[in-house]
Amino acid sequence: MIRYGDVITDSIVDGPGIRVVTFLQGCPRRCEGCHNPSLLPREGGQEITERELAKMLLKKLTPKHAGLTFSGGDPLMQWEKLLNVISFIRKRKPGVNIWVYTGYTFEEVKDLPVMELIDVLVDGPFIIKEKDISLVFRGSRNQRIIDVSKSLESGEIREFFLEKNVVNS
Ligand code: SF4
Repeated sequence: MIRYGDVITDSIVDGPGIRVVTFLQGCPRRCEGCHNPSLLPREGGQEITERELAKMLLKKLTPKHAGLTFSGGDPLMQWEKLLNVISFIRKRKPGVNIWVYTGYTFEEVKDLPVMELIDVLVDGPFIIKEKDISLVFRGSRNQRIIDVSKSLESGEIREFFLEKNVVNS
């Protein structure tokens, strides 16, 4: 069972295009100015099987959507369950574009098996002193938008090229 707070189908701020965003429950950090404090307690939200969540997300994905985003909370707190969800989705829709937001740095999580199934990782905690409202798809300057497969292949951080076309339809 995976724990989540909400799913929305019309986000334009959690990655390129219109995206289906799943807010997973639980985060070990307590960043000042956290945008989603109700998602921090591990025991909050609701439980669902990984298969049911994957099926729900596949049903919500329509041709207008550019992809799926997992936010929170910190989705990588439940990384084994997230791996099950994304594996199920990738078996049925291999090319779906997947972004994950996490408070961990890329260096801390790069060896988790789930990373191989993620297209883009927005990493690092929200740091209020680094907040910059002109940033796109991230809240503070320390956070990086990382092309995961290029970074894993090269062994060094490769930032995601924002103009890249990710629409699946
Ligand atoms: S990492 Fe994100 S969800 Fe967790 S406390 Fe910080 S801002 Fe909130």
